[in-house]
Amino acid sequence: MTSPPQSRDPLDELTALVGDFRRSLSDLERQGAHVVGGQPLPIGAPEPPPSPLLAVRADLGDCQRCKLAKTRGKIVFGVGAPDAPLMFVGEAPGADEDRLGEPFVGRAGQLLDKMIAAMGWTRESVYIANVLKCRPPGNRDPQSDEVTACEPFLARQIEAIGPRVIVTLGKPAAHLLLRTSAPISALRGTWKEFRGTPVMPTFHPAYLLRSPERKAEAWSDLKQVIARLAREGVRPVNQPRT
Ligand code: SF4
Repeated sequence: MTSPPQSRDPLDELTALVGDFRRSLSDLERQGAHVVGGQPLPIGAPEPPPSPLLAVRADLGDCQRCKLAKTRGKIVFGVGAPDAPLMFVGEAPGADEDRLGEPFVGRAGQLLDKMIAAMGWTRESVYIANVLKCRPPGNRDPQSDEVTACEPFLARQIEAIGPRVIVTLGKPAAHLLLRTSAPISALRGTWKEFRGTPVMPTFHPAYLLRSPERKAEAWSDLKQVIARLAREGVRPVNQPRT
């Protein structure tokens, strides 16, 4: 007849458990595990996936999908908050943007910054991009094969960011995004839609620099955007100009 197993002293059991745990921890540290927030990461844990916007940028890579790759300086992907409620879309980079790799720099960019500030936002809290990510030589109009090659990346940017409102800047951006050939004078100030996201077309800041008498119309377009975002409970980072 076998004797029943003897029960161990609870204190001995606890001491044994702590010893096991310490040995396990030492083993993990020797294998390169790091302790984050008090929790050891499991060995071989997969890297967290990149943000959706970074994934779009990674897919674009050193893009050679159209002939603009041969003449561009830098790819101008976009700038701003990856979850911005407000997004601005222009046509294509110009010379300064091509040099610096950032959209809307130079004089037109400075005016856009002022427009954004008047709406109560900052360049960092909105997102700014172009339909084309590379400069057409001599700032010529984008060609249809270039738009076809590049536009999917803008669509993916919009999907990744999920803006509540998109503002298109100038006729070409409105035409390319909204698939229309209506004059900008007919488009501006009226709500349109891109795949379910409200779009407000307005003038390009470069045009406003040449035609300052149209600034009041552009401001009335932007005021509609301010009002729509407010109705939807989206607050700008600063008080908008009235
Ligand atoms: S314009 Fe767009 S599709 Fe063409 S090379 Fe540049 S990133 Fe690629």
